[in-house]
Amino acid sequence: MVGDDGRVTTSVVVFGSCNMDLVAYVPVAPKQGETVTGREFRTVPGGKGANQAIAAAKAGAETRMIGAVGGDEFGDEIRRVLQDSTVDTRGLRTAPGRSGTAHIVVDDGGDNSIVVIPAANGSVDALADGDEAIIAGSDSLLLQLEIPQSGVVAAAAAGKRNGVRVVLTPAPAVPLPEDLLREVDLLVPNEHEAAVLTGHDDARRALPALLELVPEVVITLGARGCVYGNRDGVRHEVPAFDVQAVDTTAAGDTFVGVLSASLGAGAEVPEALRRAAAGSALSVQRNGATSAMPDREEIDRFVA
Ligand code: ATP
Repeated sequence: MVGDDGRVTTSVVVFGSCNMDLVAYVPVAPKQGETVTGREFRTVPGGKGANQAIAAAKAGAETRMIGAVGGDEFGDEIRRVLQDSTVDTRGLRTAPGRSGTAHIVVDDGGDNSIVVIPAANGSVDALADGDEAIIAGSDSLLLQLEIPQSGVVAAAAAGKRNGVRVVLTPAPAVPLPEDLLREVDLLVPNEHEAAVLTGHDDARRALPALLELVPEVVITLGARGCVYGNRDGVRHEVPAFDVQAVDTTAAGDTFVGVLSASLGAGAEVPEALRRAAAGSALSVQRNGATSAMPDREEIDRFVA
């Protein structure tokens, strides 16, 4: 597909979670049983699904979001922010009750800890009418594990049935069932998730173990970059860009969104990995999750 600006573009659908991130910025995160005084509070629409959708849309992909928000003001804001980022929300349902929330503490080192309450995301446990058509009309399907596993499996199967590239971020980290793994084309765990799935803390040992499960893998390593492998024996190690991180929330989601937009638009794997690293390096230098994500032109300038 060629966009209005003459550049090749791609279509991405995300089947996953939408949350409102309730973010407390603190000098030092509290230990168990401790109370600390923070310096700022912000609400930022997030959830791994919405994050990946916004990252992909900003990176230039025509993007659709399938999921659910609650019938509350958070739900209205999540929908509005997705739409403002040009994400098509016709597959985003309003479920009874509250929207999902993520309660995030970000410290001065840029590290975060997070409690997620799924709420409306719990209703995304199967395909609804029209979902399969939306998935079938896309080049890539992005999945994560913040909705019921039955929903993830159903979407992955629909992706596979329709020849759509199925990309799974296995977060939060849990062992994955065989009926999901056999539908996945590209798995993108971080180092911790790769260790949970394989028992190997070292990414270079986890990579071949993951390639026994799926055909193509990227393990992200935070400020150390990422490693890529596929079953044809191709390997790439891409360093992270050397930047000053202030907030690493959604670095991984930005990475996956930009990677999918770039691969779908025809970039070779090393170039797509470098653009994904650039996108996430730009995002970690700013506070917030979706609000920190760069657009395609900013990524172009950063990698030039
Ligand atoms: P999160 O859970 O915060 O969304 P993650 O654990 O899924 O992140 P990471 O492996 O931390 O994902 O980061 C994904 C990518 O983002 C890395 O491969 C790297 O390219 C980039 N990145 C992360 N942290 C930094 C950093 N401090 N400096 C530069 N790039 C970074």
